[in-house]
Amino acid sequence: MIQKKLPVASDEIQRIADSLPTPFYLYDEKGLRDTARYFSEMFSWAPGFRNYYAVKACPNPVILKMLAGHGFGADCSSLPELRLSRAAGLSGEKLMFTSNDTADDEFREAYEMGAVINLDDITHIDALLRATDGKVPELISFRYNPGAERTGNAIIGNPVEAKYGVTTDQIVGAYVRMKELGSKRFALHTMVASNELDGSYIVETARMLFALCIRLKKEADVRIEFIDMGGGIGIPYKPDQKPMDLGMVSREMEALYNEMIIPAGLAPLGIVFECGRCITGPHGYLVSRVRHVAHKYKDYVGLDACMADLMRPALYGAYHHITVLGKEGVPADNVYDVTGSLCENNDKFAIDRRLPPVKPGDVVVIHDAGAHGHAMGFNYNAKLRPAEYLLKADGTVVMIRRAQTYDDYVATLRFPDSPVEV
Ligand SMILES: *Cc1c(COP(=O)(O)O)cnc(C)c1O
Repeated sequence: MIQKKLPVASDEIQRIADSLPTPFYLYDEKGLRDTARYFSEMFSWAPGFRNYYAVKACPNPVILKMLAGHGFGADCSSLPELRLSRAAGLSGEKLMFTSNDTADDEFREAYEMGAVINLDDITHIDALLRATDGKVPELISFRYNPGAERTGNAIIGNPVEAKYGVTTDQIVGAYVRMKELGSKRFALHTMVASNELDGSYIVETARMLFALCIRLKKEADVRIEFIDMGGGIGIPYKPDQKPMDLGMVSREMEALYNEMIIPAGLAPLGIVFECGRCITGPHGYLVSRVRHVAHKYKDYVGLDACMADLMRPALYGAYHHITVLGKEGVPADNVYDVTGSLCENNDKFAIDRRLPPVKPGDVVVIHDAGAHGHAMGFNYNAKLRPAEYLLKADGTVVMIRRAQTYDDYVATLRFPDSPVEV
């Protein structure tokens, strides 16, 4: 059985778990920083390289600020995400606003913050102008949806069915219109994959965007200042999976750049990403304690965490590796469904998972929960949301979000007719 790594020794995590109320999220500062550095180094050849971290993956300003320290920007899709990013010290063109079905006040605030506005649809040109009282951003980006020209990957699906982006027929007109309105600088975005491990997918996306830059120069006389490759780089959730070969992706993208962009006279063309998952995903852990072990028609491990704390397994059937602390050397000979406490049979972290024999009180670590983990949490069954802690590079642990309390949960209730004491 291949083990997945813990950020520090197992007995150290056990000690942390014994000193804090479970469940909680733990983020590994050293791992986060190493990954941020590695990603930027990989693309050091690319003009203006930047990763705009997708805030939705882990919307904690302490983490956003840490990533900002490595030159990252923030990719936001809502007003609260923009505000969180600003609170983390990001401003102006370090903010990317890639939204869809956007409200006017979001466009207005993004414009006022000087964020890069990435429009999802041609009708959003008028919505933006309405929101800004006719003021036109100097820099504008469009999200491109290639439709039938590309097949999507398993998670994001077929681009023809995707609600996002401007079509192949609309894209030239979109830039022409913004140029006529007075925009002077232009960017081009796409996102056609999610949780992809095959690097050639990313290379092909670059090829598609490079070709589109050439077409836009010819047909709209618009020179693209940078392309935004979106997110979508996956992580090896399963112990036998391999991470995407970013070195290969970078080398092949550089070769395509030299082959397509330089001869077309379009260099320097900036290259940015909006990756969330591959940055924080592997460095977040959901730490939970076993409440019950039950034998019914199958064997069940009941945790004090539930799908309201991490919904990916229930939502997508996603695999999250589980380590039972202190039993790393014990053969994984038992087969369990690992569940939470929701009145919802989908509330399972794993089905038919081979684990060492588990008993109540054992601490389990659920891996790769650092992206789309805490952020996707919810309050069904009035489950209160767990705290987030940062395991600092010096080994100390600091709280970066407290657990939700009953008072937080009821704070938004109103009783207009018959006051109730809650
Ligand atoms: C979700 C999303 C991302 C981040 O995707 P990851 O798979 O977490 O890297 C980036 N950009 C947009 C527009 C997204 O919707």
